[in-house]
Amino acid sequence: MPPRKKKAPEVDDDDDADEALNPKTSGKKDNAGGDEKPKKRQRVKKEKEPEEIHTAHEGPAWTVVPPSLMYREGEPKSAERIAAFDLDGTLVVIKSGAQFVTNPDDFKFFNKDVPKIVKEYAEKGYKVVIFSNQAGIGKQLDGKMSVKLRQRAENMLAKMGVDATVLYACGKDNFRKPGTGMWDFFVENLNGGVSPDKAECFFVGDAAGRPTDIQGGTDSDKKFAEGAGIAFKTPEECFGEGANKKGAYIPPAGQEGENHNPEMSAAFEQLADHFAKKGEGFKANALRKSSKIIAAHPAKITASSELKNTAGIGKGSMAYIDEFLQSGTMSVLEEAGGFQKPSATGEGAAKPSGEQAMALKFL
Ligand SMILES: [Mg+2]
Repeated sequence: MPPRKKKAPEVDDDDDADEALNPKTSGKKDNAGGDEKPKKRQRVKKEKEPEEIHTAHEGPAWTVVPPSLMYREGEPKSAERIAAFDLDGTLVVIKSGAQFVTNPDDFKFFNKDVPKIVKEYAEKGYKVVIFSNQAGIGKQLDGKMSVKLRQRAENMLAKMGVDATVLYACGKDNFRKPGTGMWDFFVENLNGGVSPDKAECFFVGDAAGRPTDIQGGTDSDKKFAEGAGIAFKTPEECFGEGANKKGAYIPPAGQEGENHNPEMSAAFEQLADHFAKKGEGFKANALRKSSKIIAAHPAKITASSELKNTAGIGKGSMAYIDEFLQSGTMSVLEEAGGFQKPSATGEGAAKPSGEQAMALKFL
């Protein structure tokens, strides 16, 4: 049964609106206000009921469940079969390439087949549900970031042509994946009282514990599906290969794993040193990053195409990779005095730069 909804007054996206949904901010202002403190505190405590918000974003109202959940309800209102998806890295990626969403149109689909495939599930009678961690919203459930991210979901659904149910976990509690709070809330409140047939449900997410998954291989999506008791798929399994470049995982200094490409990463480091000496700092930095990506790659590289979807590996780096794979060196390095092969002991090797020393440490 859906939660009771009460109509919230229309409020602007300003501090007052934030405050109305934010007990902490409200409390602070109350202290400054003096006398009104007890009265206001009581009012905030009562705001645990779900409440509709219509503020600022265009599209259907969303409902907030203070302190950390918000959702929009799509069609159908209930189904036994649930096609569930993570949002970023799965259905879409951040188009601008920035670390955080810059505007409500800052998305592009994981690949061109995403809208068609999701729509097919909807047409087959699945209820499409998106479960997304959005801790960036935090306690400002009706703040600017919240409006931006609600609008972004609305824009994406419009572009996809699917009326999905979307849940955002805004805090760091059990609603946040890998916690199963969002799934449990959905089953209890947003599926018209129908229990999903778990054998027919699945969840697609990019946080699958692979080394290149965000935050160094987090598996929060996979754990979420396991906790919910439904099948798990990666975006590649559901949609095919992604069309967008994917960030490579570069471990922090001192936590590097085995380097499967020690000579190639050393060659890139020497290339970087070469261009740095020539005053081409931008190129040097790009090559140094490539070196780190190559050193962290989970397998021996046999063709540059294996890195073509990796952010930080551009056409230039791919050409150097191919040249190195074919000849065991690079013409630029040969012209500059030759490729210094790394050795396990360091004896006889060229004096390594700081970066090289780091790379050599793990050979
Ligand atoms: Mg994701």
